[in-house]
Amino acid sequence: MLRFFLLPLLCAGFLAGQSMPPEPERQLARDIYKQLIEIKSGYTTGATTPVAESMAARLRAAGFADSDIFIGGAIPRKANLVVRYHGTGRRKPMLLLAHTDVVEAKREDWSMDPFQFIERDGYFYGRGTGDDKAQAAVWIANLIRYKREGFQPDRDIIVALTADEEGGGPYNGIQWLIQNKRELIDAEYCLNEGGFGEMAGGRRIANDVQVSEKYVINFRLEVRNKGGHSSMPVADNAIYHLAGALERLSHFAFPLKTNGVTRAYFQALSKIETGAVKDDLARIAEGAQDAMEHVAAASPAWNATLRTTCVATELEGGHAMNALPQLAAANVNCRVLPEDSVEYVQSTLQRVLADDQVKVIAGERSQGPASPLREDVFKAVSRLTDTLWPGVATIPIMIMGATDGLYLRANGIPTYGVQGFFMDRNDIRFHGRDERMLVQSFYEGQTFLYELVKTLSKAGS
Ligand SMILES: [Zn+2]
Repeated sequence: MLRFFLLPLLCAGFLAGQSMPPEPERQLARDIYKQLIEIKSGYTTGATTPVAESMAARLRAAGFADSDIFIGGAIPRKANLVVRYHGTGRRKPMLLLAHTDVVEAKREDWSMDPFQFIERDGYFYGRGTGDDKAQAAVWIANLIRYKREGFQPDRDIIVALTADEEGGGPYNGIQWLIQNKRELIDAEYCLNEGGFGEMAGGRRIANDVQVSEKYVINFRLEVRNKGGHSSMPVADNAIYHLAGALERLSHFAFPLKTNGVTRAYFQALSKIETGAVKDDLARIAEGAQDAMEHVAAASPAWNATLRTTCVATELEGGHAMNALPQLAAANVNCRVLPEDSVEYVQSTLQRVLADDQVKVIAGERSQGPASPLREDVFKAVSRLTDTLWPGVATIPIMIMGATDGLYLRANGIPTYGVQGFFMDRNDIRFHGRDERMLVQSFYEGQTFLYELVKTLSKAGS
């Protein structure tokens, strides 16, 4: 049945197993990738404007009109790039997003210069090789290729390379574009980071498509007390109140449950995994509570997929060694399932902490709905995945972290994290030391995204 679906692709001259782009296309993508890695766009010390300007120069040289290229952002140092590739306009545009800032990297923390693009032992090394400059490079390289090949899509293809995804903050590019230049990025849906290819022991296992994410909210727990001299202690002590509340929190866990995305995820996983947990994974989809308990106990990541979590991360308190504390406070960091409300989490915390003296103060949060499991997107991804990497499953996922997809989803643009870059799931170096990308994975991802965007912007898809 699946083979039957593949026929149109085969007729188009696209053959199973041909996962590498032609040499000149590889060279172009590699050159762009190198250029991006070597621009110091660290979130706090760097700038994204040189990224926007250098990519704009490449696009102009490739024949893109000035009127289709926009550069701008919250401050001069943090510019974003938006470029439009015109289609027939039969359908609403699609948006291709990648962020161009990176987590800071210090030379002394790495075994090489993090801002030098190095190819060694089958890997590309450098800060941003995984997060998120590979996708940025591929979006630009593929857009230039479509132009050269005269590809005519049935919708506009918009590429946005944006600032300050890492840590968000006032210069976040996608938030700025939504607020100030919505018409430039308005789209039926968006493809972004957040999903990648999972490898284990050198074997490709699954191509993940991120469709939702937990949202983050911090609660400050605060106990205030009149204090006094420590030589005359009383039972009513701010630190003891807080400590007792945290002790109760440490024994608490939110209920285990699933949603449409995580049910599909565990179902797909049950077909891939072997061993003891296989049956439990399958039974989760049917809502079996004991299966959820086994699976949550087997892995912190699965636990976090099955429930909202809240954990103490910071403490403060007291003002002198010889004074009774007037203040004791803690930060509790919560990662909340999209369907759980802030009010629910807050009232649950209050009940669990069980002490009126402990104030629970909610911090800021942004929350977006899950993207619908669009049939066109999933069909295209799974067909292509099966063609390029036969037998590899396409899996919808909810991630525990956060991406810019959150803001787009909250503003009515469903966003799918999909890259097709395969990496060892036990050796993800994003944000860490000696970040790297398999050379072959980079080029295969280039092919995958080239074909995927084409498929999704061709009449009849
Ligand atoms: Zn990222």
